[in-house]
Amino acid sequence: SVSIEIDGVSKTYDRPGAPPVKALTHTDLTLNEGEFFSLVGPSGCGKSTILNMVAGLLDSTSGSLRIAGSPVTGPNPSTGIVFQKATLLRWLTVYENVLLPAKVANAISTSTRDMADHLLQLTGLSDFKDRYPSELSGGMQQRAAIVRALVNNPTVLLMDEPFSALDEFTRETLNDELLRLWTERPKTVLFITHNITEAVYLSDRIGVMNTKPGRLKEIVEVKLARP
Ligand code: ADP
Ligand code: ADP
Repeated sequence: SVSIEIDGVSKTYDRPGAPPVKALTHTDLTLNEGEFFSLVGPSGCGKSTILNMVAGLLDSTSGSLRIAGSPVTGPNPSTGIVFQKATLLRWLTVYENVLLPAKVANAISTSTRDMADHLLQLTGLSDFKDRYPSELSGGMQQRAAIVRALVNNPTVLLMDEPFSALDEFTRETLNDELLRLWTERPKTVLFITHNITEAVYLSDRIGVMNTKPGRLKEIVEVKLARP
């Protein structure tokens, strides 16, 4: 069934004292439940704009955005988000950081703690749960950010260039870990990357975008057998 529906969405950024920027025009995109979808395209074509609107962090100028049939009106606890920088809070431990979304959603329970423990185990972070983010490598911080995004067991996972700051080896390892997590609990993934190899490796479909004005050019089906 349908998960994310982007229907005729446009976005113009108004800037005080400067001409407005047309970032996106009449974009249509439908993601099915449990599908891994990547968005690729040159810098400035509007990938982050789409993701931030689906996340409820940014209003569209026109058109409609829905998740599981409900209009997106703001950030939603059933949507997990991972950005390029891990954005862990440096005064909280890894464990406190990953439980934060559950705390914000007032949903800390034995099952969220079990979920956090399970995900930390799967990503090899169990021994680091009482450490502070500054004590972790870049790859480990990004693993913690992924665990944090998954701790509420969201139906939708949004990732904006999550691995682009990592070295090639760590990126490939995290690609495999992400696929393992996704296979275990399939969810709709919208994944932004500049790395075509990564997009082909991870995705069911890839959306290729045009610049100026930002627009979805074509959608490519990927038929690669997953490991
Ligand atoms: P991408 O993620 O593909 O690099 P973005 O969605 O970040 O593209 O940006 C799309 C366009 O919107 C670009 O031209 C960018 O400069 C512009 N833009 C993004 N955010 C803002 C903003 N807050 N104010 C003005 N223009 C913006
Ligand atoms: P990178 O992000 O640099 O590629 P990884 O996240 O792949 O590194 O971590 C490689 C291994 O190095 C981890 O499994 C862990 O055992 C060890 N490691 C990394 N940072 C630390 C640290 N601060 N303290 C102890 N061990 C660490």
